[in-house]
Amino acid sequence: MSAKDNMQKQGRVWLVGAGPGDFGLITVKGLAAIEQAQVLVYDRLINDALLEHAPDDCEKIYVGKQAANHALPQPQINELLYQKASQGRRVVRLKGGDPYVFGRGGEEGLYLVERGIPVEVIPGITSSIAGPAYAGIPVTHRECASSFHVFTGNFKDDERGLDFANLAALEGTLIFLMGFANLNYITQGLLAAGKAADTPAAVISQATTNRQRTAVGTLIDIEEKAAAQHLSSPAITVIGRVVECREGLNFFEPQPGRGVLILRDARQSDIFAQKLRQSGLQPVNCPVIQIVNRTDKQADAYLQRMAQYSWLVFTSPNGVKAFMEAFQAQVGDWRALGHLKFAVIGRATAQVLQNWGFTADYCPERQISDALGQGLAEQLKADDRVLLPRSAIADNRLQDLLSAKCPVDDWKIYDTQIVEDMSAELWECLQNVRYVPFTSASTVDGFVQAAGGAAAAAEVLSAVGCRTVAIGPVTAGRMQQLGIAPDLQAAEHSLDGIVKVILADTGGVEND
Ligand code: SAH
Repeated sequence: MSAKDNMQKQGRVWLVGAGPGDFGLITVKGLAAIEQAQVLVYDRLINDALLEHAPDDCEKIYVGKQAANHALPQPQINELLYQKASQGRRVVRLKGGDPYVFGRGGEEGLYLVERGIPVEVIPGITSSIAGPAYAGIPVTHRECASSFHVFTGNFKDDERGLDFANLAALEGTLIFLMGFANLNYITQGLLAAGKAADTPAAVISQATTNRQRTAVGTLIDIEEKAAAQHLSSPAITVIGRVVECREGLNFFEPQPGRGVLILRDARQSDIFAQKLRQSGLQPVNCPVIQIVNRTDKQADAYLQRMAQYSWLVFTSPNGVKAFMEAFQAQVGDWRALGHLKFAVIGRATAQVLQNWGFTADYCPERQISDALGQGLAEQLKADDRVLLPRSAIADNRLQDLLSAKCPVDDWKIYDTQIVEDMSAELWECLQNVRYVPFTSASTVDGFVQAAGGAAAAAEVLSAVGCRTVAIGPVTAGRMQQLGIAPDLQAAEHSLDGIVKVILADTGGVEND
């Protein structure tokens, strides 16, 4: 075997910092490493969406710790990395924040290097700096902190703990990771060592994620403030005058009155989030439904019959995506769609269709199912044939309207699955928002199920004082059926319509 073969055979480990939680806070180089990984060994506190960037055949191994229950002890993690790399594989060891900040990355690296495995490090954005930044707190600031110091607040019984006399004498910002359970020990220790009781302090929980929340106080009351807000681990404690900058620099956490809950599938939430941000509103994601494309024999049958259809009718962007993805995978030759006319329910669906290179031939004035059915029926002739790829839970009205004119194949192309048992997450998210828009009847069902039933849903909404918004009459009807009063209804039945009606309600812009 040549030296070159040998090189290619040799595995390698990349110690990669995943950043603090926000997907976008991984480095370009870190993401590229994930995209090339053959084995991905990852911890808790990693944004799950990063894992989806690994190749399909990548072996993903979770080694994180859950409270006191260690999923895999450190020596076994070291050995696992060694074993996988010595089989000649590209191993990415993905760690929260930066791999060398309280991440035991150094230990793993040395263990591998001592055994002849090449190791590379891709630093990450550490939560110790990014967490405070996302809470509006710069770790240094002219005239109030010219240094910052990062400590671990987690000690084993046999460890000495912190040297509070030295800490209290430091002029710079004090930052504690892993210290939430020891917050009392930290604040009391600093006070006893002479640190001023009115020193500003903050605790930032779940920093840079949609669930980020921050308690602000002073050394003397921060523990009480954090408890009052029910903050929990993971959390960062910041002590020093820099905390005072938060008032001006807090850009990320929803301000009262501007937070909007997004309940739809994670795949669909980006565009809505973007529209909200552009209007000065603040999206908070809590997906209660999930769109799953169906791949069954039926699908092949429809796709093979494409020549027989004259119209393709889409009632949602999901329908377009599901159809185009299935077509691309199974047929692949776009000319097979060249003879077809396309009808869509509204502008958002038309836009997604356009993104695939097809212009809608028909779109009703009012973006509702009945308008589509009635308007399109006027154009259909007896020798037309319609394919209607749509949600498995759609009702029959549209099909009935169209099939009065010509044959219609109702292709149940995707399922809308409800994500079960999310009441704790939902409750947390609801506390950060003012508006709860429902973009479809299925988001109403998802919300009710996630909340633990219709009564619980109504109760939680009134407890947090949120305003509900319906995208249109069908969604409003479903809300009423389940005991949720629609406070607002969009005049234009689209995401833009929802943004407009919310802005009008906040007093931002006139509703038109
Ligand atoms: N290597 C990581 C730190 C690992 S120690 C880094 O550079 O960020 C784990 C501790 O980091 C947690 O106990 C918590 O104090 C902090 N932490 C990590 N991610 C966090 C987040 N998103 N929000 C708040 N604290 C976080």
